[in-house]
Amino acid sequence: MSAQLIDGKAAAARITQSVKQLVEQRVSRGRRPPGLAVVLVGHDPASEVYVRHKRIACDYCGIVSKAHYPNADISELQLLTMIDELNADDEIDGILVQTPLPAHINAETIIERIRPDKDVDGFHPYNIGRLALRLPTLRSCTPYGVMELLAGIGETFHGREAVVVGASNHVGRPMGLELLRAGCTVTTCHRFTVNLQQWVQRAEILVVAVGKPGLVSGEWVRPGATVIDVGINRMADGRLAGDVDFHSANERAAWITPVPGGVGPMTVAMLMKNTFDAAEARSRLADGPR
Ligand code: NAP
Repeated sequence: MSAQLIDGKAAAARITQSVKQLVEQRVSRGRRPPGLAVVLVGHDPASEVYVRHKRIACDYCGIVSKAHYPNADISELQLLTMIDELNADDEIDGILVQTPLPAHINAETIIERIRPDKDVDGFHPYNIGRLALRLPTLRSCTPYGVMELLAGIGETFHGREAVVVGASNHVGRPMGLELLRAGCTVTTCHRFTVNLQQWVQRAEILVVAVGKPGLVSGEWVRPGATVIDVGINRMADGRLAGDVDFHSANERAAWITPVPGGVGPMTVAMLMKNTFDAAEARSRLADGPR
């Protein structure tokens, strides 16, 4: 028996469609459309592709996107000044600094400079801390998108054994916090985990976000598990592959995300949702208490 495919493209289309409608309603109430500033430092080709997808999604949703393309030799101080200007800009509700940044710039310093209420990537320590305390505000887009996919297949979460492979600040860690908040019993594996297979075999919900193609063999997958493959790896022949061996995992899982077409589109969709939510939150603040 093959697993059922979790169609991230279709789920993302439903979310962007709903954001588009919400933006139209907002504008019909006399408000300006949400504004997203995207900062791309230098000319990393993969980052340029991601930024282009984000701009297309903004155009579709009616979100005003303003791109900033500083050269790779911009200093950290100059980039911080740019962030300060965007923080103070009343027409900007969300700020996204595309990573990776050049080696002379400390990404954490830049992220921490973004106002938490404009941190639509959900990377700021304030927003991660809120998630850890079960008080989420702006949620990290990729884990947030995974939660939407899981909810979409009727996942119940409570008491389920969830294993997250990968513990990065932007994906694995907030992913574990999301699943914990939802009521799962969560294990997070990382590069020092001994005997990865033994942990993967326990998972009723398995999320893999490492960036190593084929790291997780399908034979390790618990029969009937839900497998979410966040990994995106460009193979020598040009095709994209995830971190899980899809064909063998497909034989054992109940549900599985494809790569591409699984988690990837959800990340952009949740960015749109976060930008809309940030704009609404700022509007409510400007209106004051009623
Ligand atoms: P990252 O920052 O490089 O983090 C990789 C994580 O994997 C780290 O926590 C690392 O552990 C852990 N790791 C490394 N080797 C391991 C091993 N053998 N066993 C278990 N864990 C291991 O990468 P990332 O930003 O989290 O991204 C991970 C993957 O997801 C990449 O392929 C990326 O392209 C993809 N991604 C996809 C989307 C999407 O929208 N679909 C979004 C973001 C990222 P340590 O912490 O101990 O170093």
